[in-house]
Amino acid sequence: MSKQGFTTRQVHADRLLNSPENGAVHTASTNSVLFEFTDAQGIIDVFQGKQAGHVYGRSSSNSAMALSNQINALEGGIGAVCFATGMAAISSVFLSLFKHGDHVIVSQYLFGNTRSLMNTLMDMGIQISFVDVTSLENIKDAYQPNTRAVFTETVANPVTQVADIQGIGRYCEERGIPLIVDNTMTPPPLFDAKAAGASLVTTSLTKYVAGHGNVLGGAVIDTGLYDWQQFANIKPAYQVADTRQWGLTQIKKKGLRDMGATLTPDAAHKIAVGMETLALRMAKACDNAARLATLLDNHAQVERVFYPGLADHPQHFMAREQLSGGYGAILSLDLKAGIDPVDFLNKLKLVICATHLGDTRTLALPVAPTIFFENGPQERAKMGISETMIRVSVGIEDIDDLVEDFRQALDQY
Ligand SMILES: *Cc1c(COP(=O)(O)O)cnc(C)c1O
Repeated sequence: MSKQGFTTRQVHADRLLNSPENGAVHTASTNSVLFEFTDAQGIIDVFQGKQAGHVYGRSSSNSAMALSNQINALEGGIGAVCFATGMAAISSVFLSLFKHGDHVIVSQYLFGNTRSLMNTLMDMGIQISFVDVTSLENIKDAYQPNTRAVFTETVANPVTQVADIQGIGRYCEERGIPLIVDNTMTPPPLFDAKAAGASLVTTSLTKYVAGHGNVLGGAVIDTGLYDWQQFANIKPAYQVADTRQWGLTQIKKKGLRDMGATLTPDAAHKIAVGMETLALRMAKACDNAARLATLLDNHAQVERVFYPGLADHPQHFMAREQLSGGYGAILSLDLKAGIDPVDFLNKLKLVICATHLGDTRTLALPVAPTIFFENGPQERAKMGISETMIRVSVGIEDIDDLVEDFRQALDQY
């Protein structure tokens, strides 16, 4: 199995990971919330973890478990848990692993809602230092005796800063703390988070993995690199026999069972189907993005383009080292002074003005007054977000059509 290629494994995993009845190629989407035990001893054994099984839909289902197995294989982990959304996955990790008085080093270039979540955590007494993750030195400077973890995205949205994950991974290993990486922007086969040293990977399945804008989901994957016996906050109840499962057990019990951030069986099925074409869609979207970035970068009406594949991107070299499968499909741009981004977006005919990314369709929106509006001008400036920035999530359309759409809009100025 392991010798097979990425997509071969993807399209055959569903059949092999489970034992579908009647030759069903897809895992059955079972919607039962409750599970019957004809021998009452069975419910006791499952509750006490002595036997595998499901007891209640909030904690587990066959559909979510099958998807977790597939996601786990995707990232090469030792286990994965699926959640209702990407935000549910991230908030479950933070709320189950950290407590009042803990310190976490977090990237200052974060998805807006994750940044907002950090404010909530700070109100609850978790200390957060926001640092520029493009340089390891900043992580070292922020380290404190009560630092419990480092959290970063791979390529930031919308300015595409690239984190020095390999450097940070080595440093976290030295310090004995987990490195948590949000790999939403660069899912496999683009970026191998485990090889770069990530302990936990979070991802929004809503984006590239599911890929079609028709379902929400999230996941947490444990790469197996971190020794949870070093971690101060694992409750005795979750110190299970396999010490590698301590972290994920606590995240699962708190996030799913206690906080109820559960993925529905129907959603799990849709994500599993979308995921089959992940590598094909990523390759096309990355190729389209690279071509579009070059076109825009050379256009007289464009002031600046942010895309890690461009040679003048500040972390281009690091991106080349870390992103073996492509530079991602997000690019941002500033038009020449005087061009109103709203007016420009209205001139695009094919590209859809929408929030969301990782779709098959190309999407664009003005960043400052929408997804980063709540952050205010000062925080935006710190993230490198200009007030006129446009973000483009490049889809899988035929490149000539995308080029034509941007060209006709730009040529009107
Ligand atoms: C969209 C996104 C999330 C949140 O995912 P949802 O599934 O929308 O909750 C988290 N991190 C990043 C980087 C994202 O782009």
